[in-house]
Amino acid sequence: MAHCNCSVSLIRGDGIGLDVADAACEVVEAARAVTDGFTIDYRPIEAGAAYFARTGHDIEPGGEAAAGESDAIFLGAIGLPTIRYEDGTEISPHLRLRDRYQLYAGVRPVKSYPNTPRRLSSHLAGTIDLVILRESTEGLFYSAAVHGRSKVTDEAVEDTLRISRGTTEKLHRFGFRLAEKRKSQGGKGLLTCVDKANVFRSMAFFRSIFDEVAEEFPYIRCGYNYVDAQALDLIRKPWDFDVIVTENMFGDILSDLAAGVVGGMGLASCAEVGDTTALFQPAHGSAPDIMGQDKANPIAAILSGALMLEYLSEKHRNASLVQGAQLIEKAVDLGFSENRIRPIEFGGDMGTRDVSGEIASIVRSFG
Ligand code: ATP
Repeated sequence: MAHCNCSVSLIRGDGIGLDVADAACEVVEAARAVTDGFTIDYRPIEAGAAYFARTGHDIEPGGEAAAGESDAIFLGAIGLPTIRYEDGTEISPHLRLRDRYQLYAGVRPVKSYPNTPRRLSSHLAGTIDLVILRESTEGLFYSAAVHGRSKVTDEAVEDTLRISRGTTEKLHRFGFRLAEKRKSQGGKGLLTCVDKANVFRSMAFFRSIFDEVAEEFPYIRCGYNYVDAQALDLIRKPWDFDVIVTENMFGDILSDLAAGVVGGMGLASCAEVGDTTALFQPAHGSAPDIMGQDKANPIAAILSGALMLEYLSEKHRNASLVQGAQLIEKAVDLGFSENRIRPIEFGGDMGTRDVSGEIASIVRSFG
């Protein structure tokens, strides 16, 4: 098999982002060493709230363009509540990256692992394995403050929720393909469209495009849920779902809810995929309450590293990259089932470095 050289723009960012990005790189390096079929050239880019406080820029000059020149972007976390733009909102150059590179498909896996806190008492809680596909360039975030698109007067502020045909077709197609891929690996073959089509024209449009695209995928079952009912069902019966496709703001909220159901934010990995590049980051923020204390759970970032290897494997048609991704996922599974990874987030005794070191050592043991 040909050796594959990949480049990754690395934005470590703020708070625990620094620690979890290092942890992800450590584990990806272990997977690289075992498979010995690829190399990754990391290209650091400075960005974030701390950088803004030092320089007055939220990303280094030329950083936005440079990020798109690599095969993928890896990000730790960005933002600190005490450092804000003049309009009072938090520093968020990563939202511009989503917009600039049209990273419309936000993939957020939600899976329960053994020996992690069970928030639900049902015996089925251990079988939760779903993906929330959050549209990530429009919806209500189309008017995120960083884009300057709100209509602002002294009397009222209007934020627009935008659903476009082009992005929504691509999003739903991505969702059906994801459900197909998971079905080929034993998944349910079910895609659930989550919206508020009973109230909003934009949401009825979102659903009608879902139905159009569904005709291309006759072997995937379609489900429908209003977002309020979906919140209820993520507590009542999350094990019934497979892939859930939804608007940006709904996905933002539901994915935190679902992360809580399987333990906490420290397991919430995320890929934001566009047509030419993709950004990988844990779904959590910079967690200033625990920054600099070696307390962050790095597994969300580590699993995001696995998602990145899977993406690079498809981009470069290289099997050793997907092997690397599988080794990382297997190591996290094994680490939890043998009680070898015990993050402080779940009441355990292992800090960030101990958790990543143990996962890296399990990955190496597969070599
Ligand atoms: P954002 O809006 O950028 O997503 P946020 O302020 O809503 O950020 P987070 O930074 O994600 O929230 O943190 C929410 C809570 O979850 C905090 O109490 C934080 O300590 C905890 N948390 C987040 N990520 C982790 C992690 N990796 N390990 C342990 N605890 C975490």
